[in-house]
Amino acid sequence: MRLLLAEDDAALSGRLRTELEQAGFAVDVAAEGVDAEFMGESEPYAAVVLDLGLPGRSGLEVLRRWRAAGNPVPVLILTARDAWHEKVDGFKAGADDYLGKPFHVAELLARLQALLRRGIARPHGPLRVAGLELDEDTQAARVLATDETFDLTGTEFRLLRYFMRHPGRVLSKSRLAGQVYDFDAERDSNVLEVYINRLRRKLGRELIVTRRGQGYIFGAGDA
Ligand code: CA
Repeated sequence: MRLLLAEDDAALSGRLRTELEQAGFAVDVAAEGVDAEFMGESEPYAAVVLDLGLPGRSGLEVLRRWRAAGNPVPVLILTARDAWHEKVDGFKAGADDYLGKPFHVAELLARLQALLRRGIARPHGPLRVAGLELDEDTQAARVLATDETFDLTGTEFRLLRYFMRHPGRVLSKSRLAGQVYDFDAERDSNVLEVYINRLRRKLGRELIVTRRGQGYIFGAGDA
């Protein structure tokens, strides 16, 4: 299972990463809030360990943005010791659990395992936006009006899921390109357009509107 570890304390994140990997997780690390937000939106992590005191964008703001976008990923927040108000703010923003620093790694692992068990048990129905239904298990999209189902490639699925989690918003090409390519791959906006046109052909041209010079909007008509 893949985890996102968002922590700017390099010594702590290095140690946690080693321990989490030894416990069998694949771990991506973000040391900055904007990166953490982007990675959490782009990748289907099993869970996130989120330090609230991140530079760039606070962990609390990152969490609020994920939840506002409908991202249900289980999140365990790391708070400063004795900062009860951080815990309250964290739960209000949509955290699933917390640990106060300093903590024992064994406790973090136990809490993560509990969170993952709950996460698996939690029913999550298909995503429904703008007359479309996306089944995240089978990676297929259904047009509700016609009841037609379309199989998607991995890239089409990631791109459509991202659109459906951000309906009615202008999404820049560079942001969307992150859904199409691996993080280190070269980003070519022509390839993004190819994928967008494939989605339009399958699901309807009007679903994704081009905003010249700005990017694309999904489901603007009827989100
Ligand atoms: Ca910190």
